[in-house]
Amino acid sequence: MDRLIYLDHAATTAARPEVVETMLPYFTENYGNPSSVYKFSNTSKDAIVNARAVIAKSLNTEPKDIYFTAGGSESDNWALKETARVYKDKGRHIITSTIEHHAILHTCEFLEKEGFEVTYVGVDENGIIKMDELKKAIRPDTILISVMFANNEIGTIQPIKEIGAIAREKGILFHTDAVQAYGQLPIDVDDMNIDMLSASGHKLNGPKGIGFLYIRKGIKIRNLIHGGGQERARRAGTENVPGIVGLGKAVEIAVETMADRTRYETELRDYLIDRVLAEIPYTRLNGDRYNRLPNNVNFSFQFIEGESLLIMLDMAGICGSSGSACTSGSLDPSHVLLGIGLPHEIAHGSLRLTLGHENTKEEIDYVIDKLKEIVQRLRDMSPLYEDYMRKNR
Ligand SMILES: *Cc1c(COP(=O)(O)O)cnc(C)c1O
Repeated sequence: MDRLIYLDHAATTAARPEVVETMLPYFTENYGNPSSVYKFSNTSKDAIVNARAVIAKSLNTEPKDIYFTAGGSESDNWALKETARVYKDKGRHIITSTIEHHAILHTCEFLEKEGFEVTYVGVDENGIIKMDELKKAIRPDTILISVMFANNEIGTIQPIKEIGAIAREKGILFHTDAVQAYGQLPIDVDDMNIDMLSASGHKLNGPKGIGFLYIRKGIKIRNLIHGGGQERARRAGTENVPGIVGLGKAVEIAVETMADRTRYETELRDYLIDRVLAEIPYTRLNGDRYNRLPNNVNFSFQFIEGESLLIMLDMAGICGSSGSACTSGSLDPSHVLLGIGLPHEIAHGSLRLTLGHENTKEEIDYVIDKLKEIVQRLRDMSPLYEDYMRKNR
C-alpha cells in the first residue's frame, strides 16, 4: 500500500512549498543577526518587521503587540503563568474550560500548585461552553479567563466575542488559545475583546517550532525569557529568523486563501460526515454539526476500539487520530469526549479526521470505503456487538 492519505491536519500540517522557499535564504545568504548594526543584517531585521506586520494585520492590531515564541504551547504557558504572577495581588482565581488543550490544562494545574484557584467551566453536549456557568464562576478575585477559540478534537467553535465582552465588562483579562482557529476563521482581537491570543505556525502550513502570542497594549505580563532586548525584551534570544519569515508567509497565504479554502474544506467535511452517518450504523458525530471548524470531523463508532481502528486505517494508508490520550502511554479516553458527556466505551471508539486543502473528494471516497470495511471487520470480532445483535434481532 503506497498510498498516503493525510487526515490529521489538527496534529500538524505540511509547510507549503512557497513557505519553505521564502525561508531558505534566511538560513544561507541572509543569516545576519537582526540585532547587529551593520547593513548586512538589515535583511533579517526587515524580514521580521514584515512578518510581524502581516500577522498584526490578520488580527486587526498593531505589529508591536505581536511577540514571536516557539509555538502554541509556549504562548499558552506565557499568557497564563506570567499574567497570573503579575496580577496575583489583585486575585488568585482563574477561569478556563474543561475541554482545553493540555498546554492550558496542565499549566492551570501547575498554577494550582502555586496557590492559584482554577474553575473549569463545563460544556454542553456539542462542546460549547456553558455561558451561564461561566458567568456564575466570576468572582471579585478572578484575574483571568482563558477559553480556546476552537477545539482541537471536536472542532467546536466557542462564542469568543461574547466571552470577551463579559471579561471586559468585569475588568478581567481574556486569553484565547486560537491555535486551531487561526488561519481557518477570521479573527479581530479588538472586535472580540481578546487581550491575549496564542497561535502556532505548524497548524497553518507553516514551520514547526514557531508561533506567537498577541498581547494587547497595556496588559501587564512578566517577561518570559530574560536576556537581550529581542521582542521588546519580553522574550529574549536571537530571533528564529527563518521560522518567523515562514510563519509570516504561511499567514499571508492563509489569509488570502481563507474564503475559498474553507468553503472547499467545509464541502468535503459535510460530504464525509453525511456519508459516514448514513452508511455506517451505530455511529455518532461528536461536536456541533455546523458550528465547527471547516476541516474537523470526529466520529464515535459503537462497539469498537479507536486504537484498533487507527492501526487498520494506517495499514490502508490513512492517517487519523483517536480520542484516546495515547501519547501519555495510557488509554484513557480524551477529556474532551468525556467533557461532552460521552460514556467511556463510546469515547473509546472515536476517530478524528481533520482535512487540509490538498485533500480530494476521491481520497474521501476511498477513506469512506475503507472505513466501512474496517468498522464492520472490527465489529464482527467484537463480543459486545455480537451480544447486542443477538438481543436486538
Ligand atoms: C497544537 C495545539 C497547541 C500546541 O501548539 P504547539 O505549537 O504544537 O506547541 C495548543 N493548543 C491547541 C488547541 C493546539 O491544537
